[in-house]
Amino acid sequence: MINLPKLRQPIVVVLGHVDHGKTTLLDKIRGTAMVKKEPGEMTQEVGASFVPTSVISKIAEPLKNIIPIKLEIPGLLFIDTPGHELFSNLRRRGGSVADIAILVVDIMEGFQKQTYESIEILKEKKVPFLVAANKIDRIPGWKPNENEPFLFSLQKQSPVVQKKLDELIYNLVIQLASENFNADRFDRIRDFTKYVAIVPVSGKTGEGIPELLAILAGLTQRYMQGKLKFVEGPAKGVVLEVKEDPGIGHTIDVIIYDGILHKNDTIVVGGLNGIIVTKVRGILLPAPLQDMRLAKTGYRSVDEVPAAAGVKISAPNLEEALAGSPLYVAENESKIDEYKKLIEEELSKIRFAKDVKGIVVKADSLGVLESIVTALEKRGIPVRLADIGPITKRDIVEAELAGKEEEEYGIIAAFRVKPIGNLDTSKVKIIYNDIIYQLIDEVEKYINDVRERKKRRTYDSLILPGKIKILPGFVFRRSDPAIVGVEVEGGVIKPKFPLIKDDGRKVGEILQIQDNKKSLDKATKGMEVAISIKGNVMVGRQINEGDVLYTDVPKEDLEILVNNYKDTITDDMKEVIQEIIKIKRVEDPLYGLGIKL
Ligand code: GDP
Repeated sequence: MINLPKLRQPIVVVLGHVDHGKTTLLDKIRGTAMVKKEPGEMTQEVGASFVPTSVISKIAEPLKNIIPIKLEIPGLLFIDTPGHELFSNLRRRGGSVADIAILVVDIMEGFQKQTYESIEILKEKKVPFLVAANKIDRIPGWKPNENEPFLFSLQKQSPVVQKKLDELIYNLVIQLASENFNADRFDRIRDFTKYVAIVPVSGKTGEGIPELLAILAGLTQRYMQGKLKFVEGPAKGVVLEVKEDPGIGHTIDVIIYDGILHKNDTIVVGGLNGIIVTKVRGILLPAPLQDMRLAKTGYRSVDEVPAAAGVKISAPNLEEALAGSPLYVAENESKIDEYKKLIEEELSKIRFAKDVKGIVVKADSLGVLESIVTALEKRGIPVRLADIGPITKRDIVEAELAGKEEEEYGIIAAFRVKPIGNLDTSKVKIIYNDIIYQLIDEVEKYINDVRERKKRRTYDSLILPGKIKILPGFVFRRSDPAIVGVEVEGGVIKPKFPLIKDDGRKVGEILQIQDNKKSLDKATKGMEVAISIKGNVMVGRQINEGDVLYTDVPKEDLEILVNNYKDTITDDMKEVIQEIIKIKRVEDPLYGLGIKL
């Protein structure tokens, strides 16, 4: 029998920018727990580490006058892998399985890109957080005091160092304010529901860890009583990873956040090709070091486990289970159907095919897929197909179709997945990246590049407004082709532009533009150049010295120019446009209608 606690342990995640010390901090917390735990007390779970209340109490003992808390929670459960990716998979209807997050910020560097991204996803999932202002030992002049509470160590620092620390904390306060959070150093906060606590720590020296643990425990048990109430019912959880373990077969690593999981329970869980219903064969936890030799697999088996816990479940038919999927224990047949429907409905929002112009996204887990699609859509990038698993023929076909509709959407965004077998992928662009935000950045860049290219290409193909005057005395050749000297009076001329006279009559097409025998690809206002005119044009017949000619701008070209490339229209070109509109209106009353310059 196990003693059932009234409250379960809060689930804690660690997020923050790369290199700001997430792993180091977690290692320090785990290491401290290992040293301070009672003999026989277990701290290692699967994918998570448990810090029991006895350990927190011992570590926070020196602070009891400053942070007086009587701990009722059994401890804290830290998710072992920090960062966005795993956090995404801790999904739960409308939120997260995580109860609280530690946002790690290098105090010397302040907020960086992934710090803001972390805040973004914490807001989205409604997970409260505190800030660990890490690496305080790097403040110039800081004298380290291993594993001491921050407040004690601070008193031993020089006034200069204390002032510097305050400045750095203030920077964080400002940066949090820009994200609409009130924040302050933890010891200056009266109402923790209104302020985000900043706890200065060092993952290297362990300074501040006592406060970090005390505040995490205090805050969660004080403000999350409802959420943490232990319910003795069937287990609910989320699949973190699907693995193949030597000697065990396919297993799932699961975080149980509610109820009790028993051996032989019937579980319902999302699968690649439909919902999986199976029976728990074994509940596995890491074997303590001394037992490793006995337990060949490195795991020991238990009969039941209460929430919250990180466990490995072995059961038949798990090879297609989906990471990020909800897991429910069903007590009877009707519950099986209910949960099946629930999971199906939830998964269909994440894995979908829509008849829209958009890209294809493939990922290895549900949570990550969901994060990627949400982030893409936030940036205005539509998704037509979102799915789990390796890249298949169908994905290639979809991306190809998408690319035909809109060139920039002919891509597959791939997160930790590869094409199957020897699939021909040459017709579509596949963007691979194993970091969510880099993948999204790359997709966005690719789409923008293609659009830019398309825009340039269409601009290059437009016939632009131009006005020239044939200079008297500069007729170099009368016909076949006619070659005359002209001055550009406004706008621009290029080879291949057709010309009209001021009465609208067509007079051939520019063949070449030359200046001092050098060919030009265009001429603009004020330039005097020689042009050859192709077509049935003879000086003295269709055109004369002193004539003014215009480029023959098609109606659509004028619209595209004004709508898409307005910033390229110069003042002199504006005048030319107005004159051309007047000329062309005689033939086409709709020419240039509705155009605003
Ligand atoms: P992560 O990418 O956020 O997990 O960062 P790591 O934990 O890998 O740390 C990045 C680097 O910062 C490593 O070289 C760590 O040794 C160093 N580091 C982490 N925490 C501290 C700290 O509190 N003080 C100092 N001086 N270095 C730290």
